[in-house]
Amino acid sequence: GRKMIVGGNWKCNLDQAKAAALVEQLNGMEVGNCEVVVAPVFLHIPMVMNTLKKDKALVSAQNCSFTGMGAYTGDISAEHLVDMGIQWVILGHSERRQYFKEDDEMLAKKLEYALSKGLKVIYCIGEQKEQRENGTTMDVCKKQLEGVAKMLNPETVVIAYEPVWAIGTGLVATPEQAQDTQKSIREYIASAASPDVAAKIRIQYGGSVNGKNCAELAALEDIDGFLVGGASLKPEFTDIVKACS
Ligand code: 13P
Repeated sequence: GRKMIVGGNWKCNLDQAKAAALVEQLNGMEVGNCEVVVAPVFLHIPMVMNTLKKDKALVSAQNCSFTGMGAYTGDISAEHLVDMGIQWVILGHSERRQYFKEDDEMLAKKLEYALSKGLKVIYCIGEQKEQRENGTTMDVCKKQLEGVAKMLNPETVVIAYEPVWAIGTGLVATPEQAQDTQKSIREYIASAASPDVAAKIRIQYGGSVNGKNCAELAALEDIDGFLVGGASLKPEFTDIVKACS
């Protein structure tokens, strides 16, 4: 009974004209029973919100501050998102962790703050290549979830499992790897939060999802949708949404 949810993470891509053209495509897609969110760069959010049909997709931010409004040059707070009518934010993406040194402690603060302001959050976790290879995938995922387990509310939080080695590489996880890991993540949430939260919370898979590999992954028990990067910039995003509808 979990409703599928597909996110398009546009990352730091697209100029205004290309973003507008993408919105036009999205306005023609079939979403059926699938929930869809797309995350443009901050500067494009007002344009996308004004042009994207709300019965097709909602808009998400790709990040926000761990603080409220104040003297924090260059940052954007949860209050700013809420004030703009934005309902969703992606937190903990591996690119934020890797290039911007966001750690579990800071991300727990961000999650708590965002939820306290009424935002819904796609919270990203996932192991690196060496960690997959040396068998520590679940240790890594547990550590990333430990400090936030008590905040996991199925109504307001979606987990995105994104193995770092699969992001932008074309090396999608095998159906077995994705299902096994996401089942283990759900089991961990059952113990660290509650069995009820674990049963209801949605877990997306992310990492080289495309129009060709999405159907097989979408059929798996513990995959409740996708967080899509590269393919979310292309017409095939609508095929991925369709596979989840
Ligand atoms: P790709 O779909 O480009 O591998 O990126 C996945 C991702 O990081 C989504 O957040």
